[in-house]
Amino acid sequence: MPVTIAIVGSGPAGYYTAEAAQKQWGDDVQVDIFDRMPVPYGLIRTGVAPDHQSIKAVARRYEKTALMDNVRFVGNVAIGTDLDIERLRELYDAVVLATGAPDDRKLGLPGEDLDNVFGSAAFVGWYNGHPAHAALDPDLSGRHAVIIGMGNVALDVARILAKSEAEFAGSDIVGHALERLKSSRIERITVLGRRGPHAIAMTPKELGELGQLERARPIVDAADLPVQASDAALEPGRRKSVALVRQYAETEPDQKHADIQIVFDFYASPAELVGKGRISAIRVERTAFDGNELVGTGDFYSIPADLVVSCIGYRTAPIAGVPFDDRLGRFDNEEGRISDGLYCVGWARRGPTGTIGTNRPDGYAIIDRIAADLDAASSSRTAKPGRLGFDLFAGEAGLDVVTFRDWQRIEQAEKAAARDGSPREKFVDIADMIAARGP
Ligand code: NAP
Repeated sequence: MPVTIAIVGSGPAGYYTAEAAQKQWGDDVQVDIFDRMPVPYGLIRTGVAPDHQSIKAVARRYEKTALMDNVRFVGNVAIGTDLDIERLRELYDAVVLATGAPDDRKLGLPGEDLDNVFGSAAFVGWYNGHPAHAALDPDLSGRHAVIIGMGNVALDVARILAKSEAEFAGSDIVGHALERLKSSRIERITVLGRRGPHAIAMTPKELGELGQLERARPIVDAADLPVQASDAALEPGRRKSVALVRQYAETEPDQKHADIQIVFDFYASPAELVGKGRISAIRVERTAFDGNELVGTGDFYSIPADLVVSCIGYRTAPIAGVPFDDRLGRFDNEEGRISDGLYCVGWARRGPTGTIGTNRPDGYAIIDRIAADLDAASSSRTAKPGRLGFDLFAGEAGLDVVTFRDWQRIEQAEKAAARDGSPREKFVDIADMIAARGP
């Protein structure tokens, strides 16, 4: 009897897990990859920045796995809603949750709910055409934007806000976002970091892109820089990022890049979002090192803000019946194992850290673990119905499953609708996606 695996989530963690299962069991495995969306690839489609097409190209590797005979994409099926987790566990030998971390971490500050304040999941989802966020409608008519956090997502958001229309050539930014960005009047983007340059979570390649923009330039106050000799203790990647921060502190202003300033405000901890109905300013407390610890200095100041995007990390969405660690914002697990036959992988296992490639060893490790658990239980293991059982259930429940073949038709329609030079114009509405698969 083949091993039957259900993977929930068709992003990088899901597809690397499917690839690992295929390597582990060859033809003796059936893998069904569920997604609540009718389209695959999760973060690759709606998280990775639209101007980072070379990163998105990894989807071609996932497609190879998707096209294997014993791997299926089961789109438009939400686990926890259309089918509960207990039922799924009855159907498959192992269920692997690869659902990522699609929800925003909250700042927990007064004023967080003011208009034109967004979390990065929502804002990134807006310019990437995620159906849940496509209608976000951010107002970019003010001059001041503030981004909270100094990670790679903060960089993505700053870069997207700063780019000219021409700089989006070749990207798959969705039409509604490009139109709004074209009429943007933002002149100053302040990026707030509560710690100093040595603590930035921005990686060198991505930070370097800020220095290459057509009409914008990063601005760093040299007074914020630690003594150069202290960089030697940093790990190499971070040392490179700090070298770029130092370079930005030395860059002289020039006319060409005068339209938009991207100002790095270090040692700046947000305290309150201020406004009447709509955001107008952000109150910030200056921080400082007190021995080893970073503390508030009691020195507050205010920055004008017409738009705020908080890029402080993500949380996994809980699923009914699955133990959840509320503090860490991910499933409660021990090295990927949640309970008998139930596992998690990727951001749903470890939280929102690492690059897309980090999910590959994660996927392989969870399959090793499942193989060991199945071996240990082999004498008592009973055959599970796997995909036949699911198909029976889907028929009875009237689920409208979207297959990988359907997705290929949807993808063709997106390619056909692309602007000149763009790889695709994404559907941003679930009903439109489903309709595009044809009869
Ligand atoms: P991140 O790397 O964890 O950065 C989060 C930032 O938010 C940090 O600077 C953190 O500062 C700050 N922060 C957290 N809580 C805060 C608070 N309450 N107030 C103020 N600041 C706060 O997260 P991310 O940027 O969301 O990225 C998630 C993962 O995706 C990362 O591994 C990232 O590298 C990856 N990613 C990669 C790419 C790429 O490779 N191109 C693109 C996007 C994302 P502290 O350090 O002080 O906590």
